[in-house]
This record gives sequence, structure tokens and C-alpha cells, in this order.
Amino acid sequence: MKLKWQIAEVTETIQETAQTKSLIFDVPEWQEHFAGQHIDIRLTAEDGYQVERSYSISSPPENGQKVAITVERVEDGEVSPYLTDIVEKGYKLELRGPIGGYFVWKANQTPTKPLLLIAGGSGIVPLMSMLRHRNLNPINSGAVLIYSAKATADIIYYDELNELTKKDGTLKTVFVVTREQPVNWQGYTRRIDLQMFEEVLGKMTTDYNVFICGSTSFVEAAADLLQEFGVSPQNIKTERFG
Ligand SMILES: Cc1cc2nc3c(=O)[nH]c(=O)nc-3n(C[C@H](O)[C@H](O)[C@H](O)COP(=O)(O)OP(=O)(O)OC[C@H]3O[C@@H](n4cnc5c(N)ncnc54)[C@H](O)[C@@H]3O)c2cc1C
Repeated sequence: MKLKWQIAEVTETIQETAQTKSLIFDVPEWQEHFAGQHIDIRLTAEDGYQVERSYSISSPPENGQKVAITVERVEDGEVSPYLTDIVEKGYKLELRGPIGGYFVWKANQTPTKPLLLIAGGSGIVPLMSMLRHRNLNPINSGAVLIYSAKATADIIYYDELNELTKKDGTLKTVFVVTREQPVNWQGYTRRIDLQMFEEVLGKMTTDYNVFICGSTSFVEAAADLLQEFGVSPQNIKTERFG
């Protein structure tokens, strides 16, 4: 079925970090999505010029037509600065979705392997939908999130991730920062590497259901390292933001 463009109203915005903002839409004709899917947003100028960009959904399926995205401002970008700097509550935007059937995770899917989520920068967005969905549908198999950002101030959903991890003994969250050496920091302060995977994941199993999201270079590096660690490529799903 071809997806229709529809008009959705922004009902709330949240400044997540200096460079990222969440937009929460009310989408009247929303069909249920799966965690990991995305929407397309289309902007039309007065002269008819149009641009489209994809944005992952950060809200869980359980939130229904209250659909959230989180946009990172790309300097000199055509679309993202408009979404982060201009769009406010009450704006109406054209969007279509949900889109994508590959990079998705359902809490009730079998077999239930432990989840391994690896995020670079705004690549956390679709993985956050998975973690929010998992939180609402408690399951026995564990989950590990390894989230790499430039600096602590760039970590999106930091408080929520800490809260989820605190209340759920089966979720392990590991933060990685690559351009800062914060004092009293429990996380890593370098780029992801094989030793990090060995320390975080241990040697019990390599049989994970893996989702990696971020820039192309981050995704490729993480996928290569995981295969070196022993994870089968069949168990690795990737999403590249370009
Ligand atoms: C499936 C999918 C899901 C996505 N989900 C998200 C999401 O959840 N959040 C989000 O913020 N973005 C997401 N993106 C990226 C998004 O679609 C846009 O590419 C991004 O917002 C930049 O668009 P722009 O018009 O501002 O920049 P453009 O005008 O397209 O690009 C301007 C310049 O910035 C460079 N550039 C483009 N994108 C990036 C980037 N991500 N980082 C650094 N430089 C870049 C370009 O090469 C160009 O030089 C997703 C992309 C895909 C394909």
C-alpha cells in the first residue's frame, strides 16, 4: 500500500541537547509502527520547491499517533536547522510513514535473543524507540546499549536512559565519549574498539540480536568489530543516517 502524505501538527518540542530537538506530532491517520521505523518529512517553499528527509521515530508503538522524532542540527543543512531552530508547537508539517521493515524490533518476537544496541550520535533515535517499547513490554532476555557521542553534553535522552537502566536489572547501558575526558566518568573516553566489546559483553555469548545506527563510518566500524568479536553477520542489522 502506498503511503499517503498527511499533515501533522507539532504538539510539543523538547530541546534535548544544544544540537538536538525532539518534535512530537499528532498524526491523525497514523497506522501503528514498529520500533526502528522512520518517517519522511516534506517541506515545500512558496515557489513550489520541495525537499524531503527521513527521520527515525523515537516514540514506542504504544504511543500510537503521538509520534516523536529527534533531529540533530546539521550546520548548513537544508532541512534540519529549520526543524531544530524554527519549528515550534502548533506548526503543521507534511509527513508520511511509518517506513521500513528491516531495521525493526518487536518485543514479542521469537526467538528472544539478548538485544545489543549500538548507537553513534543521533543514531540513538530508533534504538530509543526499541528501549521504550521494551520498557513497556518487559521480557526476560537482557539488553545492552553502547552509545557513543562526542561529549557528555551531546548525549541525547541521558536522564531517561539512566532511569531505564536503574529500574531494569536486565538492561546495561554503556556511554562512550570520544572528544572529552570528563572527571568522575563511569563510561569510556575513546572510540569503540574490540577490547571495549570484550569488556562490556564478556565471553558468555556472541548470540545477540544486534541493531547498529549512526553515520555510515560509525556503522561500518561497529559492524566490523562485532564480527571480529564473533557475532554472526546474519544477526546484525544496520541503519545509516549518511
Ligand atoms: C532512514 C534514515 C533515518 C534518519 N533518522 C534521523 C534522525 O532520527 N535524526 C536525525 O537528525 N537525522 C536522521 N537522518 C538524517 C536526515 O535524513 C538528514 O539527512 C539530516 O537531517 C540532514 O539533512 P539536512 O537537510 O539538514 O542536510 P543536507 O542539506 O542534506 O546536508 C548538508 C551537509 O551536511 C552533510 N550531512 C548530511 N547529513 C549529515 C549528518 N547526519 N551528519 C553530518 N553531516 C551531514 C551533507 O553531506 C552536506 O554536506 C536519517 C536518515 C535516514 C536515511
